[in-house]
Amino acid sequence: MALIIDGVAVAKKLRQSLAAQVAAEKLSPGLSVVLVGEDPASQVYVRNKSRAAEEVGIVSDTHRLPSDTTQEELLALVDQLNKDKKIHGILVQLPLPKHIDAQTIIAAIDPEKDVDGFHPINAGRLSLGLPSLVPCTPQGCMILLGEALSDLSGKRALVLGRSNIVGKPVAQLLLQANCTVTLAHSRTKDLPEECRRADILIAAIGKPEFVQGDWVKEGAVVIDVGINRIDDPATAGKTKLVGDVAFAATEKRAAAITPVPGGVGPMTIACLLKNTVESARKSAAG
Ligand code: NDP
Repeated sequence: MALIIDGVAVAKKLRQSLAAQVAAEKLSPGLSVVLVGEDPASQVYVRNKSRAAEEVGIVSDTHRLPSDTTQEELLALVDQLNKDKKIHGILVQLPLPKHIDAQTIIAAIDPEKDVDGFHPINAGRLSLGLPSLVPCTPQGCMILLGEALSDLSGKRALVLGRSNIVGKPVAQLLLQANCTVTLAHSRTKDLPEECRRADILIAAIGKPEFVQGDWVKEGAVVIDVGINRIDDPATAGKTKLVGDVAFAATEKRAAAITPVPGGVGPMTIACLLKNTVESARKSAAG
């Protein structure tokens, strides 16, 4: 049976370490979260982020804007936050309403305050192997991998999904850790065979239990990024969260696997706080 990598515990340890750093270095990190519209999932994420920030000693404020906010109004707020010396991290919660171009907004954030790591400068620096603010979910995946493997060098890694927020940056981080990386997507041929070659399998596609147990190599380490809500056959009318990997069958073959919920999810928020503390430290150093 696989080791179940406990993302809740690892995230808690990271938050405690960040809280200790903030206190010891007398940092005053500030995080501004911008939420446009009423998307219920986003409301929950934003609440969780604010609560976790407080725990670490980060002062966080949330700007809640109506869904008919114009792109110009949002750009004006980003500009104001860019100039605010008390703010070290700016996070504009995605998705944005359709009339606002997310890339334009991301590009307007000061790259030094881009704690999501989505700005083209940070994405470019990551791909060049230069220091940068690294996207939170990929960072979380790497920390969880470290719980199962002390050395990633030479391992075959398969990343399933090529989004800008998960697949591509996690592939860059695996490459930096000297893995041999394959980036698979919806046009990949013979996906099960590609998966079976992988010592490390990272699934980020958003399809419930898509990766089957017999696609997973014996002894592989599996990081399941997917968060999918499905009807729960065990309870009448209720739903439950599952990942992109068929957990029960994979658990029997893998050396280690992250659960959903309780795996990558909590790490994403903890890494957001880590990025904010890093930004504050850099700003304090001048
Ligand atoms: P996107 O929808 O942006 O990207 C999905 C990727 O999966 C695409 O590259 C797509 O390929 C690929 N894909 C879709 N269907 C298939 C298929 N049948 N076979 C192979 N590849 C496929 O998703 P995200 O990266 O934003 O998110 C992925 C999942 O991770 C979601 O469940 C999301 O909820 C979750 N997530 C979890 C986070 C966390 O904190 N745990 C944070 C962020 C996301 P193509 O490019 O060819 O279309």
